[in-house]
Amino acid sequence: MEDLYQYDHEYRDSIATVDEQGKRIWVYPKKPSGKFHNYRIVVSIVLLAVLFGMPFIKVNGNPFMLIDVFNLKFILFGIHFWPQDFHILAFAMITMVVFIVLFTVVFGRVWCGWTCPQTIFMEMVFRKIEYWIEGDATKQRKLNKAPWTTKKAIKKTTKHLIFIIISLLISHTFLSYIVGIDKLRVIVSGSPTENLVGFIALMVFTGIFYYVFAFFREQVCIAVCPYGRLQGVFLGNDSIAVMYDWLRGEKRGRLKKGKIEEDKGDCIDCHLCVHACPTGIDIRNGTQLECVNCTACVDACDHVMDKINKPRGLIKYASYNGIKEGNSRIFTPRVMGYSAVLILLVTATASMLFTRSDIEATILKVPGQLYQEQPNDRISNLYNIQFINKTTEDIKLDLKVKDYPDATIKRVGEESLDVKAEGQMDAVFFIEMEKKDIQKMKTSLQIELSADGEFIEEIQTNFVGPATSRRK
Ligand code: SF4
Ligand code: SF4
Repeated sequence: MEDLYQYDHEYRDSIATVDEQGKRIWVYPKKPSGKFHNYRIVVSIVLLAVLFGMPFIKVNGNPFMLIDVFNLKFILFGIHFWPQDFHILAFAMITMVVFIVLFTVVFGRVWCGWTCPQTIFMEMVFRKIEYWIEGDATKQRKLNKAPWTTKKAIKKTTKHLIFIIISLLISHTFLSYIVGIDKLRVIVSGSPTENLVGFIALMVFTGIFYYVFAFFREQVCIAVCPYGRLQGVFLGNDSIAVMYDWLRGEKRGRLKKGKIEEDKGDCIDCHLCVHACPTGIDIRNGTQLECVNCTACVDACDHVMDKINKPRGLIKYASYNGIKEGNSRIFTPRVMGYSAVLILLVTATASMLFTRSDIEATILKVPGQLYQEQPNDRISNLYNIQFINKTTEDIKLDLKVKDYPDATIKRVGEESLDVKAEGQMDAVFFIEMEKKDIQKMKTSLQIELSADGEFIEEIQTNFVGPATSRRK
């Protein structure tokens, strides 16, 4: 890539959005248009519809997705994951991380350019509103430099009001993924003082979203996003990314009388790819951490190639080796290694998911309690039961001591053991046994759990009795 560096040796020493004094350089990207931008609009509309629509979808009365980190309640695809299922969630998260790594190793930052909410909201929502109100890059630059007039004030106020309204919408949607749409309805329909925490959360989220999309913008991808920071580790020479074909483009030169000079490459150094870039970089310098693979430069350059009658694709999706050697390899040893790990993790997660029990039950003897002598030569022990019903049906639980027909179970308090659908029950009960059945200090018991006559599970526990007791 020697030729590639001859025009800008220093580009890695600084970032394009900060000047030598450390001051922010505001990026005014040119309004994008073209084949890739049109595809991205379609993808963005679909993803925005999913993002805003999903909180309203319910499966068996459950939200389709709920990430209630405060109450440790997680619902994915309508399935309720309890704290007892966290090992499955942990495996699923590790699997997702490996998938992201593998995907990035092969396809670069496709996620950033096409599906990341930050890019979609920034480029497809907020930036489009800005173009609509303030015009393209040149007009925006002019407007910002111009003195304050009524026209400028109206434009700026309208833009920021719309930004705040959209930020409110995003924050409400965001909160609905945490508290659920029903709780959100309660929060928004009541007065702020009735749901102060919810109201404050909404205002804080709105403020953050507004600040990010109105002011902070591309700095999220450049300086904050950890995924962006990891690109240097993930990307290799075979990773596919938005690339400038330097073999075809160099040495770049200007058009002379509408024609490219004979000894020059196809790049006419028009800088339109740079002007289109929302992170302010020149992709001709090579793959850079700032590049979010948004394809704006691809479209811009394709327009130029069309105008000068050259084939499209001077900037395109390609790998470094694909351009340098003319052959792209996808199944490199690194990719095969990651794939093998991913297959193992997917298998493990899937088998855990499919063998996940619909109930969780624990029976423990109440600590610190001795056995109790009862009339009629009987002994009792006190137990705690915790029962989690992960199904969507109510369960009427029945307990029985296996192998000891004379043993009885007496619930403390209420008579029946009812567990609501997707609910949890904690109860206390006595097991009472005939003295003659107790052979040693600790007798192992099997407790049979059933619901509506149907066997559910067998749990082992211990029954403590007098050490001197012997079978008669
Ligand atoms: S848009 Fe294309 S031709 Fe123009 S400077 Fe960029 S790479 Fe060169
Ligand atoms: S270099 Fe091209 S693909 Fe990368 S961020 Fe800039 S415009 Fe988007």
